[in-house]
Amino acid sequence: MNIESKIKELTEKLNQYAYEYYTLDEPSVEDSEYDRLYQELVKLEAENPQLTRADSPTHRTGGVILDGFVKFRHPYNLYSLGDVFSREELAVWEERVRKEIANPEYICELKIDGLSLSLYYENGFLVTAATRGDGTTGENITENVKRIKDVPLKLKDAIDIVVRGEAYLPRKNFAKLNKERELEGAAPFANPRNAAAGTLRTKIVAKRGLATFLYQEASPATNDTQEEVLEYFEELGFQVNPERKFARNMDEIWEFIEEATRLRDELPYDIDGVVVKVNNLAEQEELGFTVKAPRWAIAYKFPAEQAETEILSVDWTVGRTGVVTPTANMIPVLLAQTTVARATLHNVDYIEEKDIRIGDHVLIYKAGDIIPKVGKVL
Ligand code: NAD
Repeated sequence: MNIESKIKELTEKLNQYAYEYYTLDEPSVEDSEYDRLYQELVKLEAENPQLTRADSPTHRTGGVILDGFVKFRHPYNLYSLGDVFSREELAVWEERVRKEIANPEYICELKIDGLSLSLYYENGFLVTAATRGDGTTGENITENVKRIKDVPLKLKDAIDIVVRGEAYLPRKNFAKLNKERELEGAAPFANPRNAAAGTLRTKIVAKRGLATFLYQEASPATNDTQEEVLEYFEELGFQVNPERKFARNMDEIWEFIEEATRLRDELPYDIDGVVVKVNNLAEQEELGFTVKAPRWAIAYKFPAEQAETEILSVDWTVGRTGVVTPTANMIPVLLAQTTVARATLHNVDYIEEKDIRIGDHVLIYKAGDIIPKVGKVL
């Protein structure tokens, strides 16, 4: 296949996956697979900029909005984040910052694996809540967000402010929700992020126990550093993630990443990496943005966790509405610090597509998800 056709194929494939992920909340591939194809496209586009397509996902944030939701136009562009997958790539980013800023200081935060959210307060009162959408236009979900218990309806100070954060479903509530769905014969959610995304668009937010972490000011900042912004958020009454660290160089940043990797399984919520931000807001402004992401921040993504094992048998569970879910029984294997003996096979299409059979040696994944999945046959 020539490069032009390859770029076209990757663009179309990634746009389809993004539609399933952002708009339908029903991804058909692992995030790690999406990321792999995305990196392939980034590389091809960099080598052949003249072949970059107008609809390339590398130029866009998020997904399209389904008809039926009230659209909300953000007054400030809600950017995505650039991502890296290794210490080497992270060091390249850090070097680039260092070229522009003398003695930069960083703040490292956990990357919460939820749904991006923005909250608009006027005179201290919550007036609008919206999803990020494509960064310019999101969905107005104010009434639903008002039901999330930890979102303050009124702040301690009577100020106008726009804050960004993440809505997530704590693991405990996710497990409970999927158990209930199993009993009802409904298909289980693939992971807490999908469950949160689906829930946020319905009015049963409170019942399912969604929660939030706020991490950034989208309106012009009232403080000098990101550290102060987070402290101020706490004073205002927002939930702010307590796991964060100040860093001066790559070694200190990497220490936090190692710490976060250790913490990952113990946390009561999912994270999929670490976000490193330049702490000083004036320096952030100096560094600015690319079309899609800030230059002053980067997401380090954890590698997908995987292990090799053998499929012994398959159980078929029939839900009350007749949905049949296959689960593989496997030779027990250690994955992300827990012993795993069962993995989901989703449905018959998934089994056929991957040609998974009893007796096969397979790779199983835990990519930020709680239920391991059979990824591929070896
Ligand atoms: P992203 O999730 O990789 O990173 C940006 C987001 O991180 C921000 O918008 C924000 O919501 C969030 N975030 C969490 N904690 C944060 C913190 N402390 N500070 C700042 N931001 C924080 O970017 P994205 O554009 O939302 O999604 C891209 C990713 O989604 C891909 O890398 C892929 O893994 C996944 N995806 C998967 C599929 C699929 O089919 N499986 C399709 C599309 C996208």
